[in-house]
Formats: sequence, structure tokens, C-alpha cells
Amino acid sequence: MDIAVSELRPPARILMGPGPSNVPPRVLRALASPVIGHLDPAFLAIMEETKALLQQLFQTENELTFPVSGTGSAGMEACLANLLEPGDQAVVCVNGLFGTRMTDIVRRCGGLPIIVEAPWGEIIDPDDVERALADSGAKLVAVVHAETSTGVLQPLTELSRLVRERGALLLVDTVTSLGGFPVQVDTWGIDAVYSGTQKCLSCPPGLAPLSFSQRAVEALELRKTPVQSWYLDLSMVRRYWGQERFYHHTAPISMIYALHEALRLVFEEGLDERFARHKRNHLALVAGLEAMGLSLLPKRDHRLWMLNAVVVPEAVDEARVRRRLLDEFGIEIGGGLGELKGKVWRVGLMGYSSTRNNVLLFLVALERALQEEGYALSPGAGVAAAFGEY
Ligand SMILES: *Cc1c(COP(=O)(O)O)cnc(C)c1O
Repeated sequence: MDIAVSELRPPARILMGPGPSNVPPRVLRALASPVIGHLDPAFLAIMEETKALLQQLFQTENELTFPVSGTGSAGMEACLANLLEPGDQAVVCVNGLFGTRMTDIVRRCGGLPIIVEAPWGEIIDPDDVERALADSGAKLVAVVHAETSTGVLQPLTELSRLVRERGALLLVDTVTSLGGFPVQVDTWGIDAVYSGTQKCLSCPPGLAPLSFSQRAVEALELRKTPVQSWYLDLSMVRRYWGQERFYHHTAPISMIYALHEALRLVFEEGLDERFARHKRNHLALVAGLEAMGLSLLPKRDHRLWMLNAVVVPEAVDEARVRRRLLDEFGIEIGGGLGELKGKVWRVGLMGYSSTRNNVLLFLVALERALQEEGYALSPGAGVAAAFGEY
């Protein structure tokens, strides 16, 4: 070799940011399994199992349920591009970065976004959505279930009822909630839903699990114009995931192995226990943070279990604290995005990263980093409060 390039040796990290989360060894082993053909009967069987596990996780009987090739944003783009035609109106709920991203995609699909806003850190008011629907007769309402940029959980029952009453389609982003909080697609009347693999499913990034209700499939079949994205056109991709096994693009074999194993891990643990674990670790983290005099951005009732937006205290250098956590402890957390840049830390407790040990270590590390910043706190109070919560 002319160029001296050494073997890859990524550092060991504790991933407690907004994703990716740490990947369990069994998923890493699945990734290293031999690659076989995307039409090999053995692979088709793995696809069928993956699809059945995803249906169970989304709590749906939707036939059109499979992972799209690409990260969470590919799922977002797939849902919007397949359901919207040029000139269609769509109500988009915006209370953080990912709602903003949906608005951008709606426009790129030739759609007309009707934006319903709430301040970053607050939930969307269903009455505002109802008014927007009544005034417009929009085809679809798009909302983020778990806003990773603000740590806010959007309640969906009231929203789904009124969207249905108005005869619109409900599209929900569950990239951060799926696998950490219940997502009941059929019960909640969700028509299109997408997620990502690297958050509470603890797979590497690379697939976007997605599901369409019968109504959404009909909307797709009744289109007058072809889907503007060839790659994400679900009317073609579904023929590969369905019985025809029609070639569209080569499935990312290794990532589907990884997702298959990650889903097995989800159901070995059990959904209820998995959700309870996410809640338990969140509550212990919050108890610890509060004992250190820190607060969270969202109100108590609107907080995510898997992503905690912590307000950065006055006179503390947000980025320097993150850097210290990474350099001294190997812990990655996230900073604020958009209008929250420099104002919050985003502490993830997603999937395999949501553990008691991570919570306790993080509180110790944060205490040390805050002391270096000259922030006054009573030593050990955070960890003691977290132990108290456990
Ligand atoms: C991470 C995330 C996305 C985007 O997913 P990528 O995998 O980064 O493309 C979309 N929506 C939400 C709520 C997210 O947290």
C-alpha cells in the first residue's frame, strides 16, 4: 500500500445522546453474518420474520409494514412523498426541528404545508389542528410523537380522533419513541408511521421501519401522478416485500440481519418491561438532575423517557461540559439544535443505553464537569437522589 492507513479502531463510547445508542453485542454479531442474496429463500424467510416482528412492535395488522432502506429521514420522506401529490395541502405540526424538516419535505413534494406551531418544549394543541383542518380540508396531518430536539412527548389519542373525524390521514414520526414507549398504530388510528433503527431499537443507523394503513395504501393507489422519488416509491418497493418478490433495489442484507436480531431482543425482554425500564431510568436521572439544582425543558407530564432536554445553567459553558464528558468519561451527550443551541443538553437513555449504570455514571461525570465550571452543588446529592428513586 502506498498510503499508510491503519486498521479502524473507533474508541469505546457510552452513547447517551439523541442517537445512535449503543449497539448490543448480539446485534453486532448479526451484522457480521455471511451476506446472502436478496432473493435467496433463506433471506426471504428472514424478511418475513422481520416484517412480523415489526407489525408486533407497531401493534398493527397493516400488510404494508417493512423497513425502508435509509435512516429515519428516509422514512419521513417516504411517507410524505407517497401520500402527497403536487398541490395537496398538509397540516404539519411544528414544535421542534423534526416538524420543521417535515415542512421542508412537504414543499419539495409540491405540497402546500399548513403549519400549526407550538413553542419549542411544548406540545401541539389539538384544537389548533382542528381549526387548521376545518379551514383547509387538508389531506393529511403530520406530527412528531417524540420530538428529539426538545424532549417532548406528543399525546396522540385526541389528535387522532379529530383527524379521523375530518377524514384526513394521520402521519406520525416515531423515530425516537419506537421501542422505548408504546406505539399503538391500530388503536390510535395512525395511517402512516415511520421510525429509525439507531434510537430505542439500538441497531446501527441505516433502516427506517414504516407502516401504512389500508386507507394510506388506497391513497397511494389512487395517485394521479407517480411518486416523485423513484427510490422511495412504495408502490414498487412493496412488491419486493410482498409475495411477488419483484426486484426494485438490493436490500441492505446486513442491516436487515441487525434489525431482525434487535427486534428479537425487544421481544425477549417484553414490550411492557422494556417501556418500564425506559421510564425507571428516566425518573432516576431526573431525580438526580433535580438534586443537583438542574431542570428539564418540558413540563413533567410532557417528558420523553428516552431523551431528556436539560436546561444549561447560567455561566456554564454548554459545549465545554459535553467535551469534558467525552474526553474524561467517554460519554457522548447531545447539544441543543436550532433555537435551543447552547441552551440545553440532550441526554439520551435509548434502548441498550438505558441502564442504571449509565444513569449513575452520567450523574457522577456531570457533577465533576459542573464543578470544573464553578457551578455550586452539594457533592454526591445527584447520585444519592437517583439511588433513592431506584
Ligand atoms: C433522529 C430523528 C429523525 C431523523 O432520523 P435520521 O436517522 O437522523 O435520518 C427524524 N425524526 C426524529 C424525531 C428523530 O429523532
